[in-house]
Amino acid sequence: MVVYNAICVSTLLYACEGWTPYRRHIRALDAFHIRCLQTILHVHWWDKIPHVQIRCRAGTTCLETILLRRQLMWLGHVIRMPGNRLPRSLACSELSCGRRSVWSQKKRFKDHIRSSLSKCGIPFNRFEELGGDREEWRAVCDRGLATFEQQHVDVAVAKCARRHQQRNQPHPTTMRQGSACTVCGRVCASAFGLRSHMCWHKETRWAASSSNQRTTKRQGRLV
Ligand SMILES: [Zn+2]
Repeated sequence: MVVYNAICVSTLLYACEGWTPYRRHIRALDAFHIRCLQTILHVHWWDKIPHVQIRCRAGTTCLETILLRRQLMWLGHVIRMPGNRLPRSLACSELSCGRRSVWSQKKRFKDHIRSSLSKCGIPFNRFEELGGDREEWRAVCDRGLATFEQQHVDVAVAKCARRHQQRNQPHPTTMRQGSACTVCGRVCASAFGLRSHMCWHKETRWAASSSNQRTTKRQGRLV
């Protein structure tokens, strides 16, 4: 895990401090992270081990938390820079004129920072004040990231429990009143299945009645 963190995660998140990722990008990164952890722990998809458990075994967090930590640490570093430095002026300013091109990304870095701070429970109007003190900023970020990771785990566990519960419940179509056969009482999984089953009843009834007719005709001829 030490080698993985030192080489793979560092290469994967190289220069991530300035990224403005969308949800789909974070999902793709997290999928890669989980695949690597599964390979390290010799876990296969058919073992059906939840991702939360895999991360717990590997002693790591989800990739979004790692990304947030790096971005918040860098943000604190930028805030502590003197006002005349270019990164500082770019991070806390916006264009007074001009328009973005039509097909450009809608989400701005500022929006991403705002949402990252709200995920960690850090007020946006106080982040410059908090970031001024290195130790305080680190403590605030640690607390916020721990809460975020816990919420992430809770949501994943609840989702897993809900999925298991749904799997154990009978299919809703089988519980419908109209899906039971009126002739033999057999419960069909769908309305289409019930129609096919009723066709089968009709065919067998027709076959039985025609064979009866043939038998009576033969008996009449014999008499
Ligand atoms: Zn039937």
